[in-house]
Amino acid sequence: MVDNTQATKSISLNQYGIKNAKVHYQLSSDQLHNITLKKEQGVESSLGALAVNTGEFTGRSPQDRFIVKDEITKDRVWWGNINIPFKTDKFDALYNKVVNYLSEKEVFVRDSYACADDNYRLNIRVINEYPWSNMFAYNMFLRPTERQLENFNPEWTVVNAPGFMADAEIDGTRQHNFAILNFTKKIALIGGTGYTGEIKKGIFSALNFILPVFKNTLPMHCSANVGKNGDTSIFFGLSGTGKTTLSTDPDRSLIGDDEHGWTAENTVFNFEGGCYAKVINLSGENEPEIYNAIKKGAILENVIMDNNGNVDFEDTSITQNTRVSYPIYHIENIQKPSIGKNPKNIFFLTADAFGVLPPISKLTPSQAAYHFISGYTAKVAGTEAGVTEPVPSFSACFGAPFMPLHPTKYAEMLSQKMKDAGVNVWLVNTGWTAGPYGVGHRMKLKYTRAMISAAMNGDLGDYSYENYHIHSVFGVAQPRQCPGVPTEVLSPRATWNNDEAYYKMAFKLTNAFRENFKKFESYASEEIRRGGPQRYAF
Ligand code: ATP
Ligand code: MN
Repeated sequence: MVDNTQATKSISLNQYGIKNAKVHYQLSSDQLHNITLKKEQGVESSLGALAVNTGEFTGRSPQDRFIVKDEITKDRVWWGNINIPFKTDKFDALYNKVVNYLSEKEVFVRDSYACADDNYRLNIRVINEYPWSNMFAYNMFLRPTERQLENFNPEWTVVNAPGFMADAEIDGTRQHNFAILNFTKKIALIGGTGYTGEIKKGIFSALNFILPVFKNTLPMHCSANVGKNGDTSIFFGLSGTGKTTLSTDPDRSLIGDDEHGWTAENTVFNFEGGCYAKVINLSGENEPEIYNAIKKGAILENVIMDNNGNVDFEDTSITQNTRVSYPIYHIENIQKPSIGKNPKNIFFLTADAFGVLPPISKLTPSQAAYHFISGYTAKVAGTEAGVTEPVPSFSACFGAPFMPLHPTKYAEMLSQKMKDAGVNVWLVNTGWTAGPYGVGHRMKLKYTRAMISAAMNGDLGDYSYENYHIHSVFGVAQPRQCPGVPTEVLSPRATWNNDEAYYKMAFKLTNAFRENFKKFESYASEEIRRGGPQRYAF
């Protein structure tokens, strides 16, 4: 791959209020890698990838994510503890403090864009305090060609100052770190945290507002890939449920691992130009494509290495949420450009720590709508500050922290699109089997892959009694057979070896579903409500 984004010009940042900065514009990945080493902000691992520590924060901080409440957002955003309002004048004052902080400093600037489909393209200028954060932007956003750079008009700006600490009392933040979206000024302002995920999820959240409101396109927290016959699959799921792992499939070309749009023209496109994979317990044997993507150009975050730069992927002493970012071309089998047709199969991934959901089941349209709005998983430690042990959790649309609109907006769009496209929808439990977390064990990746392949290839058969058993508690259709998977694995109850304990736990989960769904009851149609579990504990 030719790196055609060498520094060609120098730019001034005066228009942003950043004065007398030493600006490094559009440096190559290699240059940023080397500058990071020289500044001793990172080291080179034996695999060639740069390794950095992101500092105090090794995950996103959802409680410190704000949206400026202004003419554009005030009547559209679903305000609450997910979309926390921020005052315009407070934003202006804090912005001024941040750009003052960056003035006189060395800063790294990169022009890039989001959305692989040219009709939806969003130009972004990223201004970073640190070279490795700017390299992250190179990896994760789409990379303009030299020609595209010649008359590049940045529309959104990401200002990223991890070393700047807010004064909560004066600045109107919760504490010293913050990520604030301003839709009028088109700025994502990030300070006090070096976690790079805030940069990509900042732009994701902006697109989750812009695309449905102005472009009639459904934004989705999902991964996507395409089979040899051109059939697209998408995989929704919260952090750690397997979006990146399962979309990276040697037999299918990768569209993207995390953020996509589904257009009115029946296409699915990637927002990003790279992947951000978890590397906890990563092995070359189990996940060769991701392992081999860790080379020069990739950035490892918060991993532990020995003196020779050998990474211990099992070491969680900094965090469970160890990561690697790499440009998508580090994966061999990719779709170019990152666009596919209407999906044929949709997978809802959940890491069920109760261990009671079937490893794969087929959903009716009602069930699909119900489960999309519920967005169940069990949070696994690490990606978010403050979460240290698994907790069952519900996050609407499998991505509530990134969705500025009311969840039903996205759910209605998805239901309509699923109907029009005639997709199959599957619920996949990539979490626990043979007992809950602590007793059972995680579903074997090999089995999950086999079940997903079977679903896509039509090997689970038509929707009939011979092929499926309706789960007595959840009401979903559990396949009776699956090539490459022992039959007892398909029935969670059978893996428990204790029916009473299994049903008790299953009812515990259905009650949690019911409790969570209360807040959507007044919005949900009878059809959607019918998609919920069939039985509850009393
Ligand atoms: P994020 O939104 O934070 O990027 P993600 O949905 O992309 O999260 P992955 O990065 O794919 O999640 O993480 C899934 C993790 O679970 C990986 O570390 C993977 O190795 C592990 N895993 C274990 N068993 C399974 C399974 N049966 N299916 C999928 N992943 C599994
Ligand atoms: Mn991922």
